[in-house]
Amino acid sequence: MHVQKVFIAIGSNLGHRAANCARAIELIGRLKDTEVVGKSSLYETEPWGVTGQPGFINAAVEVRTSLEPEELLRALKSIEAGMGRKETGRWGPRTIDLDIIFYGDMVVEKEGLTIPHPRLQERAFVLVPLNEIAPDFMHPVLKKTVSELTARTDTDGVRRF
Ligand code: AMP
Repeated sequence: MHVQKVFIAIGSNLGHRAANCARAIELIGRLKDTEVVGKSSLYETEPWGVTGQPGFINAAVEVRTSLEPEELLRALKSIEAGMGRKETGRWGPRTIDLDIIFYGDMVVEKEGLTIPHPRLQERAFVLVPLNEIAPDFMHPVLKKTVSELTARTDTDGVRRF
């Protein structure tokens, strides 16, 4: 069994947003063969894609896990489901959203799972928290560090909560 360094992005814009993020981090830490080894501060981010909904609270965590990427995705989806995430449309409000950002240096392109997350380089709400815990981590495809990617994005809408 191979232990991997994995980064997960967390977001919530429904209910008690900060508590939802904290709860998700706790549940991630309870997954089989998984340990949370780093977590960012919480950030508040202006809603993206759709306006007229509350802002998001975003965070990032670093985990060590020996779950395979698809097992980890399944586990994260069950945390989302257990926390009452409703399907409200792609950019609609959500109790909790969990995305696998990096899974070591692995590149995964499967139906329903793409790693590194395909839009992370456009998303300040992913990069800013990630940059707090892993500025030197190298994107295995773009060959840029998290801090280089962060420097290229507009981070104005992302503030410490
Ligand atoms: P969203 O509603 O934006 O959170 O999208 C969730 C869907 O994206 C899930 O059904 C996953 O199958 C898919 N997906 C693809 N790549 C990833 C990834 N790296 N992390 C999490 N979900 C992913």
